[in-house]
Amino acid sequence: MSSDGRLEYDVGSNILRSDVHSAESTDRNPKHMAQVKAPSKTYDVVIVGSGAGGGVAAHVLALGGAKICMLEAGDWFDCTKQSEMFAWPYNAPHRAAGSTAKPFGYFDATLLGGWQVTGEPYTNAPGSDWMWWRARMLGGRTNHYGRISLRMGPYDFKPYSRDGKGFDWPFTYDDLAPYYDKAEELIGVFGTQEGLENTPDGKFQPAPAPRGYEKIIKASCDQLNIPCIPSRLAILTRPLNGRPACHYCAQCGRSCSVNANFNSPGVHIFPAMKTGNLEVRTGAMVREVLVGQDGLARGVSYIDKKTRKDVAVYGKIVVLAASCCETARIMLNSKSNQFPNGIANSSGLVGRYIMDTVGSSVSGFLPILQDLPPQNEDGVGGMHMYMPWWLYKEQNANKMPFARGYHIEIGGGRGLPEAGTLSGSQRLLGGGYGLELKKNLRKIYGSYVHFAGRGEMIPNEDSYCEIDPTTVDQWGIPVLRFNFKWSQDELLQAKHMQETFKEIIETAGGTVTSSAGEDKQWGISRGGEIIHEVGATKIGDNPKTSVLNQYCQAWDVKNLFITDAAPFVSNADKNPTLTISALGWRTSEYIVDQVKKFNVKV
Ligand SMILES: Cc1cc2nc3c(=O)[nH]c(=O)nc-3n(C[C@H](O)[C@H](O)[C@H](O)COP(=O)(O)OP(=O)(O)OC[C@H]3O[C@@H](n4cnc5c(N)ncnc54)[C@H](O)[C@@H]3O)c2cc1C
Ligand code: SF4
Repeated sequence: MSSDGRLEYDVGSNILRSDVHSAESTDRNPKHMAQVKAPSKTYDVVIVGSGAGGGVAAHVLALGGAKICMLEAGDWFDCTKQSEMFAWPYNAPHRAAGSTAKPFGYFDATLLGGWQVTGEPYTNAPGSDWMWWRARMLGGRTNHYGRISLRMGPYDFKPYSRDGKGFDWPFTYDDLAPYYDKAEELIGVFGTQEGLENTPDGKFQPAPAPRGYEKIIKASCDQLNIPCIPSRLAILTRPLNGRPACHYCAQCGRSCSVNANFNSPGVHIFPAMKTGNLEVRTGAMVREVLVGQDGLARGVSYIDKKTRKDVAVYGKIVVLAASCCETARIMLNSKSNQFPNGIANSSGLVGRYIMDTVGSSVSGFLPILQDLPPQNEDGVGGMHMYMPWWLYKEQNANKMPFARGYHIEIGGGRGLPEAGTLSGSQRLLGGGYGLELKKNLRKIYGSYVHFAGRGEMIPNEDSYCEIDPTTVDQWGIPVLRFNFKWSQDELLQAKHMQETFKEIIETAGGTVTSSAGEDKQWGISRGGEIIHEVGATKIGDNPKTSVLNQYCQAWDVKNLFITDAAPFVSNADKNPTLTISALGWRTSEYIVDQVKKFNVKV
């Protein structure tokens, strides 16, 4: 046992996995009880993961007075000390180009992560092609995510009632709206009041002005009756709670050294630590939830990545927020006498109905943007304008070939040049050399525009994750195997995206430079590629057809809660993180309330 009372034993060589299990779960196998002593301390709450979902739970619960231990598989990260916001691409190898270790470029904030994490594989079932992005660091993906923060609307919570596909959520938009308010007010989101259908407005800071190319796109959208409005991003345009406003360096993906954009450490975790109620352990790779003989969660066991020791930490409540698929993995790996198929899995639905966002892109060249005088259009690290879904009436009148909708994200302008900038220019310029090439590149620099559709996927029976029976990671933990399929609704949505983006470009007097036709399935993204994965532990109002109740509390284990995207039963076109924050806040307040009412003991 370690000096702080944690339960420890060596991982690997001399201990068979079955022994490890018995040592962790003394209640399950009393003959091993003599081998280990229980940790001296029992926390009120153990939280697994420190991203958007773990962060909000830690914040609300620590401020509510709970004594918490947060376990994070990655290393410590503090953007105010570790951000590379001001570094020049030409000072980095290959002009800061992406690599396997850093897919989004050399200066991307992700410390350890990407499509592959060394020593921590995942597999695909035959016929599936899922991509799984993971970020192993304090704050998870919130350090470098796009910060697009869109509320789901009233229709999005009742999709089954509207078109008979997928599932309804067990509550309405109005139930979650107060938590969207709280989340936005804490993290800081800019936007404008628009009053559009199924696109709820929020508690916004003022939005930045549109850039030049965004005004051209808006003019084109106006002609086509497509709404083009200021975007909604979790970036401060006014100071908030000691955090300064953004100074418009456009480098949010590197993380922000002044803490002006939302990131879970700077906004949720560090303020929660100041209460003295939150202890954070990094390098803690959670293996499973421990279960007592009463069938309740007792805590979790994790691998201390530095010592490779297996450690137990006890808590009266366990909150899983390791990101939806990882949460499902932990649950499926938490097998015991009470839960032979994984904890809280009596419905058999843990891992089922995973969803991603439908993505498809088109790029274009707008001659009107050529040869403009140099100007600073950096702005925030993301778009200043976007297009919410607009064809609700046509859909209601059965005039659309697919269910649900998408919003449009746009890019362009004169961003900081780095590897890949102006790639493909030879198609326009026909190549060239020396001074003339430089002159021509300057001429067209900033005249490309990009459109990315982000659409709703409907959950289906063929999309799920399960434990791969033959593969373990470097910690000896069984890994996930993915199964995934798009349906015709999603493919037809991608087709519509391609056609719409071409129309916008051509209406602006431009030409399309890259697009995809039927032979390429309309450019639809691979499952997981948009990194908006949700689902795997469905919420509902019936324990037979859902894993969690509407407060994200496991039906089978009442002191087990989930605050990441695993409870989602639909994946509206709205990017998921703001809804994770609002839902996690609601769940955390419910925990505080249940503890007060003695329905959950601490
Ligand atoms: C490039 C990029 C751009 C994006 N843009 C947007 C956007 O604009 N808007 C939007 O809404 N969403 C966006 N997303 C998605 C968004 O980042 C995620 O939806 C969100 O971060 C999910 O939060 P989470 O807490 O569930 O998971 P994460 O943020 O991934 O956090 C999970 C944490 O749990 C830890 N963990 C995992 N397994 C274990 C374990 N076994 N033991 C202990 N700890 C563990 C991880 O290390 C990680 O720190 C983007 C993502 C990427 C990568
Ligand atoms: S654009 Fe603004 S929020 Fe983003 S990194 Fe720069 S200063 Fe920070």
